[in-house]
Amino acid sequence: MTAENAPSAPITQDVLTLPRKLPEGPVNLVGLTRDQMQAALIAAGTPDKQARMRVNQVWQWIYHWGVRDFAAMTNLAKDYRALLASNFVIALPEIVTKQVSEDGTRKYLVRIAGGHEVEIVYIPEEDRGTLCISSQVGCTLTCSFCHTGTQKLVRNLTAAEIIGQVMLARDDLGEWPVPGAPKDETRLLSNIVLMGMGEPLYNFDNVRDAMKIAMDPEGISLSRRRITLSTSGVVPEIARTADEIGCMLAISFHATTDEVRDKLVPINKRWNIDALMTALASYPNASNSERITFEYVMLNGVNDTDADAHRLIALIRKYNVPAKINLIPFNEWPGAPYTRSSNNRIRAFADIIYKAGYASPIRTPRGEDIMAACGQLKSATERARKSRAQIASEAGL
Ligand code: SAH
Ligand code: SF4
Repeated sequence: MTAENAPSAPITQDVLTLPRKLPEGPVNLVGLTRDQMQAALIAAGTPDKQARMRVNQVWQWIYHWGVRDFAAMTNLAKDYRALLASNFVIALPEIVTKQVSEDGTRKYLVRIAGGHEVEIVYIPEEDRGTLCISSQVGCTLTCSFCHTGTQKLVRNLTAAEIIGQVMLARDDLGEWPVPGAPKDETRLLSNIVLMGMGEPLYNFDNVRDAMKIAMDPEGISLSRRRITLSTSGVVPEIARTADEIGCMLAISFHATTDEVRDKLVPINKRWNIDALMTALASYPNASNSERITFEYVMLNGVNDTDADAHRLIALIRKYNVPAKINLIPFNEWPGAPYTRSSNNRIRAFADIIYKAGYASPIRTPRGEDIMAACGQLKSATERARKSRAQIASEAGL
């Protein structure tokens, strides 16, 4: 298949979002904002006056120490621990399988409520370790080069399921602090990228709440500059990303004309290159030190000519966007309608960008042997699309 006859997609948002709290039974404390946790503790009988202090204590246990058992929260009185245990749980998704690539990349298959599955990838590098997390099961958008886009079933992850991915990875890396041990400044999990399955800006509130938890200084405490959100271009939510999350932004750009981008990234039919670039030009955080990453997948004969490289530079200059360009060699998946551009073509493309004065790193594919590279993620146990009622009943709602 070529770009000309690649499937085009409905740009709808038919996604089920589960409520944060189950109507009955214990409430999961994971994924609640500080305000929500405070309200939940008060509802369970914590005196108003103590509530803020209790949130601080419980927050530290969960997100700084990685504790999952109320009995281990030793600075709380025994009867308060009992109150917590009878009203709340500290629940994470469950790791079903873990694969480790020849290059050290780890891929986890994780099961969430309703029996759905998402994938998480941990990529160790010399000076950092990046966790690539998912924001949805599948994706409503159907970018023609992306494996996730072929998955029919879609549901938004809850904030608990999003931050839970980070917590599970820290469990597996053995990275929660040990009381009394010297503080370790080199973190195995130092960066988060929202580049797994799903379009994070179609699940804005849950992604925001989860990333706020990741950044909270009393807990996991990652700098906002070490979190990158990648979007295919949900224009109305872009400014909110700076205002409400404050993290770094990456854009799945991938084409330099609307004609080609319409086919590769179908959301372009709703918000075209001009609308996207206009939103980026006024992105509140953009500056030379916080440049926006333009992701560009190199597809043989589709978007990889010298003319494309020149057009890309011209666009970035025209709209005056502080940018760096990340070239991603296409990662193939079974039945993919494209092939990867040759190394020579990718280098020539990178050279044009570099000579124009922009950084143009070529991303080395990681974990290809375990299908963990960009765009290869897709739930292995694909099923037919289910009704909302069926998903809700499976989730116990
Ligand atoms: N939905 C978001 C984030 C997930 S995709 C987005 O589209 O930005 C993360 C990155 O991988 C995106 O830039 C995406 O375009 C790219 N990608 C998808 N499939 C790919 C593939 N098969 N090979 C290389 N990159 C791919
Ligand atoms: Fe969804 Fe991103 Fe894949 Fe497009 S590239 S289908 S937006 S996950």
